[in-house]
This record gives sequence, structure tokens and C-alpha cells, in this order.
Amino acid sequence: MGALRQSGLPVAETTYLALGGGLGSFVWVDYLRVCGTAVDDIAVVGYEPVPYGRFQRLCRHSQIFDEQRIRSDSGARPDNLWGWPGYAVQEMAGLLRQGKWGEAGRVAWQIFSETALADNYAPRAETVYRALEREMKRIGWRQMFHQGEICAIRQTDDGRYVAVYVPVGEGDGRAPHCFVAPYLHLALGHPAIQLAPESQAYRQNTGDCHLLVQAYEQHEHIYQQLARRGGLVILRGRGIVASRILQRLDEIRRATGRDIQVIHLLRHALTADTEYGRARRRMRHHWQWQPYNFPKAAFGGDLRQVLAETAPEARLELLAAWGGSTTSDRRDWRELVAQGRRQGWYRLVFGAVGCIRPNGRNRLILHLQEESPLPQESRLVADFMIDCTGLDDRLTVHPLLADLSGRYGLRQNSSGRLEVTPDFELKQLRNGEGQVFLAGTMAFGNVYAPVDSFMGLQYAAQRSVEALIRENAPGLRPLHGWESARQWWRWQRGVEP
Ligand SMILES: Cc1cc2nc3c(=O)[nH]c(=O)nc-3n(C[C@H](O)[C@H](O)[C@H](O)COP(=O)(O)OP(=O)(O)OC[C@H]3O[C@@H](n4cnc5c(N)ncnc54)[C@H](O)[C@@H]3O)c2cc1C
Repeated sequence: MGALRQSGLPVAETTYLALGGGLGSFVWVDYLRVCGTAVDDIAVVGYEPVPYGRFQRLCRHSQIFDEQRIRSDSGARPDNLWGWPGYAVQEMAGLLRQGKWGEAGRVAWQIFSETALADNYAPRAETVYRALEREMKRIGWRQMFHQGEICAIRQTDDGRYVAVYVPVGEGDGRAPHCFVAPYLHLALGHPAIQLAPESQAYRQNTGDCHLLVQAYEQHEHIYQQLARRGGLVILRGRGIVASRILQRLDEIRRATGRDIQVIHLLRHALTADTEYGRARRRMRHHWQWQPYNFPKAAFGGDLRQVLAETAPEARLELLAAWGGSTTSDRRDWRELVAQGRRQGWYRLVFGAVGCIRPNGRNRLILHLQEESPLPQESRLVADFMIDCTGLDDRLTVHPLLADLSGRYGLRQNSSGRLEVTPDFELKQLRNGEGQVFLAGTMAFGNVYAPVDSFMGLQYAAQRSVEALIRENAPGLRPLHGWESARQWWRWQRGVEP
């Protein structure tokens, strides 16, 4: 600490420091506030001015606009740790107020009969953002938040940690600032977007970001050109983003009447449903359909328990059986795929891509390498390619975590992420009384499967705050019975915790 003070850098002290400033940080800070911590004892550092900033950008780029429905259930509310009333009840109340009885009835039917007789309910993205704005105000988020880019985290010699960050915007320009705190929470999200290796090679060779895009990048120009002239698009990936982009392409096709063709290029065909015990995930048209990214029982039911009791080296197998590349089991998306194949504008092609190159006339040529049991071409020519293969979660691509892990020799789990305790603590970083917790995708592969979900962020927050309460961390009181009811009532009325 002496050296830090002598460095001349501005140093501020706090008790609870949340690094990242996204949804994971928000949920943790919300929990701390509800458990009694004062605004003055919490600081948050992150890059985005609002906690849903990165989430919203990634959603919008991948065509999940604000009015579209996302992929979580009614009770998974990052703004409400009790989960009640869920988004569905809120939506019904809003519809009733507007006199839309029929629509309210449909939502009611959906939540009472999901998923046996109806698709599972999911809130609209804008509902989530609005609810977060309300909770931000209630807990005093803006007073705690400091916008900046975090460069390093180190232990101090007095049982605390220092985070060095460069503030963004007004003030001291690019001069680094420091925050020192005994309790740290890291929720830094996905480190980078992912391109399939062949797409990456194409980018490096040509520098082109116009014909070949990653779905999480801004790529509106593709839809605009297709709306004007039609064309052929190659889609890669089998997740929810690929579904939504296919839907957008179909919307443009219908609205403009242009000839828009889609080739869905998949590495291999799927031949059967995925089974785990008596549970079954359906495979149709070589897509895997499942309501959420993990079975519901992995969020809070028996599968959560199964994973917690499984030896660390065997977890990977379970996680692969329950998760993987799946898309939301929505009737409209299932019908879209079936109809597209029937009408011929949507085709499946299987094979590994050998190389991708421009054809000199603003189109792409893809050479396929692999044989396939299904009839297919070995060379594809397309106007655009949209890579929906996801986000890159390797530790090595996250400079801050890679640095921290290298400096303190943090252990990795079988999924290549950081090993955390069941309370989401990075045990190797214990520093006297000081503790560091990790949430979100970088905590994947430990005792809880859906870490990268609203519910997973809430679960991690609850476990870590309860651990802090057990350790008598300052300013926190347990959230039992009466206190929980009292706090919920304050939440309900929008009153500060
Ligand atoms: C497109 C998309 C849709 C999703 N839909 C759902 C859904 O429907 N339901 C669901 O439950 N889950 C969903 N998820 C998963 C999950 O809820 C989100 O990924 C969520 O945003 C994770 O929260 P986080 O805090 O870990 O990451 P983020 O919300 O991304 O926050 C991390 C923050 O850390 C910041 N950061 C990172 N490094 C630094 C640094 N060095 N300095 C400063 N700041 C830094 C980033 O800028 C970012 O703002 C979705 C994810 C994506 C990508």
C-alpha cells in the first residue's frame, strides 16, 4: 500500500468493489444493497454507462431488437432477486390496463401451460431494460458507478486488493486511477466474439468485414442490400442467434418479395435426439430444440444437485449433454425451418470449410472439404456469410483475467475457465480477510451449469453474499423471513432498500 500511495495515482477506498459493471455486477450490487450495504460502501467500475449496455448491443446486432423476446423465463429478473412478480404477470397487468383482455389471456395460458401445451414464456428485451432502469434508480447505481477500463488487479499487503483503471470520458484524461477494497466481484462477461477458424483466416487475408460478418457485429448493410436486390446468404452456427437471423431474412423476403436464398452450412448432420436419463432434447431438421440454454432442472432442480455432486473431471460430459448449441424451442422458429426447407429458399449443407475467398465481383466462394451422407455441393458462391458460431470464452483472450491468472497461478477447470468454490470464490486469491468472487461465463464448468444467464448471475450473487454474511463482512444483514418480506415490499413500491 505504501508503494501505491507513493505512486501519485489517485487512490480511492471502498468496501465492496464490483468490476465489469454489466449485468453480473448489477445483480451482485443489488443483492448487497438489499442486504443492507450503504451506497457509500460500494463502488462499481466498468466500461458501459448502463449495466445492460453490452447485453443490449449484442442482442441488437444479432437481430434481437428491443421489442423481441429473449430466452429466459418469467421469474429470471436481474432487477428483482425474489423473481416475483415475474415478467409474465407484469406483462399481463399492463395488457389488462390497456384493455387488451385477449392478449392478457394468452400470456396467462402460456405461463400456466408452458412447456407441455404452449411454448415457454420469455420477456421482451425492452421489458428487461426498463425494469433494470427502475432498479438502478432505486439502489443508487449511478452514484456507485465509475466508468473506466480496468487494466490490472493485484493483492495489497494489508489484506485487500487494488484495481487500476483508466477513466473514460471527462476528468483526468487517460491517467490511471485506483480503487482499493477488501471484497471484489468480477463479472467481465464474454471476452470476445468468435469467428470460425476459416472465417478468421479470410478476415486476416482480405481485411474484409463487409461480405463476411460475425452475427454479433453490426451488419445492417446485409439486410439493406438483400431488401434491394435479393441474394444468397450462408449462415453458420446452430444457436438462437442463427434462428433469429433466419427469421429476419425471412421477414425481408416476405416484405420485399425479393429472391433471398439461405444456405445453412453445418459441419455435420445430427442424426438423433440427445438423451439424458429419461429426459430428451429433440433434434428436428438438424437443429436441437430446447427452451433454455440448459434444462430447467439445471437452474434450480435435481440436475443442479447432480452437477454439484459430480467430480470436477466428469462435469464436462454432463455440461455437453445438457447444453451445447441449442436453439429456443419456439413454434414459429420450428415452422420457419420446416417451411423454408419445403419451399426451397432455406437449404442445409454439411461439411467442413476448406477456404473462403472473394470472387472479385463482391461475392464469396467457399470450398468445402468433407464428404457427407447427404447430397451437397463442394463449392458455394454467396453474396454474404453470417457467422453465428458465438462468443469466445477462452481465458487467454481476456487480458485482465489472463494477467490475474498468470500473476497468481489461478487454477483452471476442465472447461478451461477459472476454478471457483460453490460460493463462487476464487479461493487462491484469498488475502487475509479479503475475498474475490467471480460470476458469469468465466465461472463456467464449476458446480453450477447456467452461470451465463440471469438466473445464474442471481444464483452466484446469492451464494457469494451469503458467504460474506457468514464471514461477518461489514454492513450486511441476513435476508431471512421478515426482512426479506420487508425488502420485497420496498422493491414493490420502488423505495430505496
Ligand atoms: C446476445 C445475448 C443474449 C442473451 N440472452 C439471454 C437471455 O435471454 N436470458 C438469460 O438469462 N441470459 C441471456 N444471455 C446470457 C447472460 O445473461 C448475459 O451474457 C449477461 O450479460 C452476462 O452478464 P455479465 O455481467 O457476465 O456480462 P456483461 O453483461 O457482458 O457485462 C460485462 C461487462 O464487463 C465489461 N468489461 C469487461 N472487461 C472490462 C475491462 N477490462 N474494463 C472495464 N470493463 C470491462 C464489459 O464492457 C461489460 O460491460 C445472453 C447473452 C447474449 C450475449
